[in-house]
Amino acid sequence: MKFLSTRNSKLKISAREAIVKGISDDGGLFVPESFPKFNIMENLNLKYTDLAHKILSLYLTDFDSNKLLEIIEKSYTSFEGEIAKVSYKKDFYLELYHGKTSAFKDFALCLLPNLLTYAKESLGIKEKTLILTATSGDTGKAALEGFYNTENIDILVLYPTEGVSAIQKKQMDSTDSLNSKVISIDGNFDDAQSAVKKIFNDNKIKNKLSEKNIYLSSANSINIGRLLPQIVYYFYAYADLVNSKKISGGDKISFCVPTGNFGDILAGYYAREMGLPIEKLIIASNSNNVLTEFFMSGLYDANKKLKKTISPSMDILVSSNLERLLYHKSSDSVVREKMKELAASRIFTFENEFPEFLCGYADEEETKNAIAKTFYEENYLIDPHTAVAKHIVDEFGLKNTVILSTASPYKFSTAVLSSLGEKVSQDEFENIDYLYKISGVKIPREIKKLKSKKIIHDNKINKDEIEDEVLKFANRGMRIAVPATSANIGPGFDSLGLALKLYNTSELKKSKDLKSFNENVKDNLTYKAYAHTFEIYGEKIVPIDFKLNSDIPMSRGLGSSATCVVIGIMAAFSVMNKKFDKKEILKIATKIEGHPDNVSPAIFGGITASILEDEEVYVEKFKVSDKIKFLALIPDFKLSTERAREVLPKSYNKKDVVFNISHLSLLILSLISGDENNLKAALQDKIHEPYRFKFIPEINEIEKIIGKSSAIAHYLSGSGSTIMILLKENDKESEEFIRGKLKKLSGEYKLIPLEIDDKGAFII
Ligand SMILES: *Cc1c(COP(=O)(O)O)cnc(C)c1O
Repeated sequence: MKFLSTRNSKLKISAREAIVKGISDDGGLFVPESFPKFNIMENLNLKYTDLAHKILSLYLTDFDSNKLLEIIEKSYTSFEGEIAKVSYKKDFYLELYHGKTSAFKDFALCLLPNLLTYAKESLGIKEKTLILTATSGDTGKAALEGFYNTENIDILVLYPTEGVSAIQKKQMDSTDSLNSKVISIDGNFDDAQSAVKKIFNDNKIKNKLSEKNIYLSSANSINIGRLLPQIVYYFYAYADLVNSKKISGGDKISFCVPTGNFGDILAGYYAREMGLPIEKLIIASNSNNVLTEFFMSGLYDANKKLKKTISPSMDILVSSNLERLLYHKSSDSVVREKMKELAASRIFTFENEFPEFLCGYADEEETKNAIAKTFYEENYLIDPHTAVAKHIVDEFGLKNTVILSTASPYKFSTAVLSSLGEKVSQDEFENIDYLYKISGVKIPREIKKLKSKKIIHDNKINKDEIEDEVLKFANRGMRIAVPATSANIGPGFDSLGLALKLYNTSELKKSKDLKSFNENVKDNLTYKAYAHTFEIYGEKIVPIDFKLNSDIPMSRGLGSSATCVVIGIMAAFSVMNKKFDKKEILKIATKIEGHPDNVSPAIFGGITASILEDEEVYVEKFKVSDKIKFLALIPDFKLSTERAREVLPKSYNKKDVVFNISHLSLLILSLISGDENNLKAALQDKIHEPYRFKFIPEINEIEKIIGKSSAIAHYLSGSGSTIMILLKENDKESEEFIRGKLKKLSGEYKLIPLEIDDKGAFII
């Protein structure tokens, strides 16, 4: 399958190239050269990811099929519960908001980064990608999550200060990935979008970026890699209706789609062209009803003032994806002409008919009424975007129609509560709790977590500063990030370790000064590891400056020295242009460190079991159950590894050894299952903790406090002094309880909740 530009159908490129480019150089969007047929009646019982694999394979013909399935399966693990879920009320709702950011954008944006990374790698493209995205709220966060710490890809998100909901804002501003920057700009979404488009068309900036081997791309729905994954859920919904006996095979159904940039509904059009029995596709607009007008009259007129509504993700005047439909209905020359008119005067006319579409719109009052009516009559809670579609379905009296439910009501709790006639608080999180109280609808996991998240990005600029911000962001040096680790987990002495979302990072700058480099090698672990790696490969050392940024406290049993070693080795790999073979890096790091229990998780992420034997490192990585949370108790007290080693006995008695072996097997399995009783029993050690805990002043008091809380268990991290506490996922009290009690002791203690890092060391 080839893809061609809507403004030049002779330009044909592969799927991988189209995904990497995002937009055609002639300003056009990529579209498939034809629509492959797909018979849903022969595929009624596939699970979502298998259906996605079958459908996407028809378009992504230059992707390795097994690799594609692997990518799809990996991407959709970020969903909570069912990936796409049809809820049968008076109407049928296709719930598309169970992804990580609680809006349908997750369907494409969890996948696109992995498709892009594969496409770049397999095409041998080494340049860095800078994703520049304007958002009306949902795309921004979904893209930030999708590209979370993705190697060789940076992402800059711009949102309008006044145009997003409180939750959307907090979601974006709290993003803690190292490859991201979030900026709010004065103005509305159209201002943000046109500022971004200006940069895409600015050759001066593009040249400055390409001198640094950086090229721009977009996560907005102009990228064909965003559109294709959305076709799948139309087929999935149809199969669900047949399987639930709501329709018979072959019956035609309709879809009503809340529409802004015309991406979601266009995917429905693609599904129809592929043979899905669709009667009508209904375009649902809010008060910014440019599309409604266009489909009724053939006149596209964007010369309007953008209205701020309670469905902000649809507050758009220029719908990018409409260009694709115009192409499918006419030709590249017509599209060229119409887009020229649109650019010049924000207006154009188009004569062709659209028999497969219907359209309508809901104003603010109608949207609110739809929320209330659905809740009180169907006992079903919908968000304002979904409500726009619901209003139109009711207005037209449509049968056999699936309403695309595009966001969780909890993303817009204030608007939903006030639509229900309830009083609202200034505090969004109080509104969320109250909405839960009256509806009983489960709050999405990630929205729950959001309350306690730190604000990382607090950048407000005006429109004409965007250019500077882009260049400043692009000018950062190469960065390596390596997670903190906690080794010697309970009975897993010298073998079991886990990686935590707390990082030492380093920015690399080429240096000409060999003398200061050599000085550094004498007394700096990172430089030593760097130089050593060059020696191993018999290459001449390239002097370099490391700007180290450590978030991990030193000599506290959190693996900070292992991170320094790994940073040095990875920097050497990168300067030598060597492929990042993690096993190779582990081998070198283990040689320098002496044992693999800290460096393994630092490199691979997750929990690792590893051993060193005859210069060979054997390592297995596994995933800890989501049911467990980690809390680091860090005393204001360093413990040297040498001292901690000296106190250990030379030999152990058989009973203690057997104790540790049996507990270790149970520990590994219960970390996977998350069974708290087993964990409590398994997390005991007779090899090092009895000797080392003594070093920590006030240890008796500390253990007493932990014992009185609802914590599952604790262990000495590494060789101390950090004590790692395991908590149940829904334990909200223990952290505050322990914090309160620690204040009464004489030592200073830090208490930090930490999540598991599943990715390990990476370079950006
Ligand atoms: C983006 C978005 C829409 C509009 O989708 P388009 O593909 O831009 O038409 C509708 N609802 C929600 C919640 C959204 O985030």
